[in-house]
Amino acid sequence: MSISKEEFKEMLKEKGLKVTNQRLLVLEVLADQRDRHMTAEDIYELVKEDYPEIGLATIYRTLQLLLEMQLVDRINLDDGCIRYEIGEFCDGENKHHHHHLICRTCGKVLPFKDDLLDELEAHIEEAMGFHVLDHELKFYGQCKECREKKK
Ligand SMILES: [Zn+2]
Ligand SMILES: [Zn+2]
Ligand SMILES: [Zn+2]
Repeated sequence: MSISKEEFKEMLKEKGLKVTNQRLLVLEVLADQRDRHMTAEDIYELVKEDYPEIGLATIYRTLQLLLEMQLVDRINLDDGCIRYEIGEFCDGENKHHHHHLICRTCGKVLPFKDDLLDELEAHIEEAMGFHVLDHELKFYGQCKECREKKK
């Protein structure tokens, strides 16, 4: 699912942010490549194609701002890189953020949408009096392609 430039403009305005080219481009690149989980450098390479005068420092600043505004999420996939993905508002009616399946063989990261954690969260609240606002889940294993190759 892709979001139009107009919708991004609205989102920035709603957050009280000025609509600038670099902000729009960073959001667009992240939305277009939503399953890639890009680093700031990856984003820079793509934004540069449309906006050659942009610098990496601007990308970092823009990402920081979009993070604070919760338009973008930061994820750590344990490969020593900080990666970014478009925020959960893009998933429409379902506000839930996807989980990540990480292949230990080829390093691919697959998004996984189903949650099934409501019961666990309710249990945590009951047992610990701790109200869960969010969670982050990573599963490590071997993807279908790698498993088939091994056969
Ligand atoms: Zn794999
Ligand atoms: Zn993701
Ligand atoms: Zn979840």
